[in-house]
Amino acid sequence: MEKQEQERFRDSIGTVTSEGKRSWVYPKKPDGILYKYRKWVSYFLLIFLFVSPFIKLNGNQFLMFNVLERRFNIFGDIFWPQDFYLFVLMMLIGVVFVVLFTVAFGRIFCGWICPQTIFMEMVFRRIEYWIEGDRGKQIRLDKQNWNAEKIRKKASKWFIFFIISFLIANVFLAYLIGSDRLLLYIQEGPLAHISTLISLLIFTGVFYFVFAWFREQVCVIACPYGRLQGVLLDTKSIVVAYDHKRGEKEKGRAKFKKNEDREASGKGDCIDCLQCVQVCPTGIDIRNGTQLECVNCTACIDACNNIMDAVDLPRGLIRYASEENIEKRKKFKFTPRIKGYAAVLFILVSVLTGMLFLRSDVEANILRLPGQLYEHKENNIISNVYTYKLINKTSKDYENVQFKLMSHKGSIRTVKGSSILVPANGLAEGTLFIEINKAALETEKDKLKIAVYDGENLIETTGTTFLGPRSYN
Ligand code: SF4
Ligand code: SF4
Repeated sequence: MEKQEQERFRDSIGTVTSEGKRSWVYPKKPDGILYKYRKWVSYFLLIFLFVSPFIKLNGNQFLMFNVLERRFNIFGDIFWPQDFYLFVLMMLIGVVFVVLFTVAFGRIFCGWICPQTIFMEMVFRRIEYWIEGDRGKQIRLDKQNWNAEKIRKKASKWFIFFIISFLIANVFLAYLIGSDRLLLYIQEGPLAHISTLISLLIFTGVFYFVFAWFREQVCVIACPYGRLQGVLLDTKSIVVAYDHKRGEKEKGRAKFKKNEDREASGKGDCIDCLQCVQVCPTGIDIRNGTQLECVNCTACIDACNNIMDAVDLPRGLIRYASEENIEKRKKFKFTPRIKGYAAVLFILVSVLTGMLFLRSDVEANILRLPGQLYEHKENNIISNVYTYKLINKTSKDYENVQFKLMSHKGSIRTVKGSSILVPANGLAEGTLFIEINKAALETEKDKLKIAVYDGENLIETTGTTFLGPRSYN
């Protein structure tokens, strides 16, 4: 029965009342060394996020994800739809990386790196503390009737939230359509690009809704990664955990009394001050054990450490620890599962590195024109017609591109003339003829190797097939 009582917290989520209504969370402002570190990490990530689309490397936007035109820039390198396999591989590496980290270190990603947490806790929440004050003041403000003070505070907060949401939407647009185009649109004025403005306002509305109202619900009920915790975590995963052995001891947690001998009394080190609960942005009590709602933000570690300092007990009652570490005092070990994920990650990264090195600056595709047979010409010459596509993945023009046969003696003639211009970050397409003497053919379908030169420089090699007559005698 007592056990059932203890497990009751699992029947509901802390942010919803028994009537199914939203229970608003007013987390106390965190304070401590981990919060300080998290602030520095968030400054770095926010600067990275806001600046990346405006940095150019080799003339290309540093990061761009133009899904509409299927062009992606990663660290200044342009990836075309033809490079999609690399993109998929990168995504796979990202997933395995996050899974590996989750198995070993729980939801460390959520607390330290996730954009939702960074924006919520390090931007919007801090503005809220600045305008409305800490937890107690926020609760009082929400309870009080609308007066000049409440209108001023709420209106200024909502206005700043809207401006920041609008800024975030603009940055996302810079990732999507490119910062040059975004700046051009701004110069030309919003009325010249009404559809873009409408999309921008829709995204602003979504961000505003998430950060002003939906908040921790994203992590608690919407985020699929959060739902995965049940299968990824095990008793060896390091998570933010309450040391219940130390906190409860034989007689359980109890309020702190001055000058008492806590050790001799058998009471646990938890003085039931509820600071860890009040500081939690997802409204849970970490003393109930690992819960799906916990985003590992470490605010409760800082809060509890401050209390431990105040009552002169050792820090670390709430800390980064695994269940085994708490139950059996076992140190962190690399489990076979972690080693397995690490091996998969290593293989994927090696494959990706190899592929990136093999990736050429220019990609050439030569395909036989569908439905066309070969043609007999004078002097025993067989001719096949092809379409070619040259993709320039660099930011410089290739002005004098030519094809040369490598595998056979023969000639290549492009319809557009002897040399082709392939513009920077662009492509050139056209038709070409390959002519080979019948005597040089070995089968009715020879494989050809073709070199692509820019002037004297070999920039790519490619292949295609060449049809010829069945008999060669
Ligand atoms: S902050 Fe520490 S001492 Fe206070 S209730 Fe939480 S675990 Fe117990
Ligand atoms: S339980 Fe602690 S670490 Fe988890 S979300 Fe709440 S405050 Fe953050």
